[in-house]
Amino acid sequence: MSALMTLRMRPHHVLCSIGFEGEGYDDAFIANMGNLVYGTLRAPGGRETPIEITGEADAICAPCPSRRGLGCEKDPQIQELDAAHADILGIAVGDTLSWGECLERVRDRVVPKDLARICAGCMWLPMGMCERKVAAFRKVADDAAALGCVDKTPCP
Ligand code: SF4
Repeated sequence: MSALMTLRMRPHHVLCSIGFEGEGYDDAFIANMGNLVYGTLRAPGGRETPIEITGEADAICAPCPSRRGLGCEKDPQIQELDAAHADILGIAVGDTLSWGECLERVRDRVVPKDLARICAGCMWLPMGMCERKVAAFRKVADDAAALGCVDKTPCP
């Protein structure tokens, strides 16, 4: 059994965590997500963090002003985001994988233009940071592959 604390994450939050640049809905949301992303996922050893995929409010949702219990006031839109992200990443509710494996799924399965479809309706999409992160992510992977590096998955 892993000594690391398992992080419950709904499907679309895998990509949101990669794109995160410190923006959010309010100060409490930003502080919590910043702690999870910078303090855990992008910290040394963060790739080993176990991620349990959930269909309910997760560790990132916890302080969100839109959270309603285990749901969200924007539930229909959130369910659509989750379904599209779960499909492209090949993950399902109940799966547990490491954060490193989540990064590999994105590296292998997502290209920047996919976000216009899978993130449709998200208020952060027009700002472009998530597309830019996926593009940079793939470039690092392609450059590493060209150099014959074993680890082709960057840490965003
Ligand atoms: S555009 Fe929105 S839903 Fe898509 S990865 Fe970024 S924050 Fe998440």
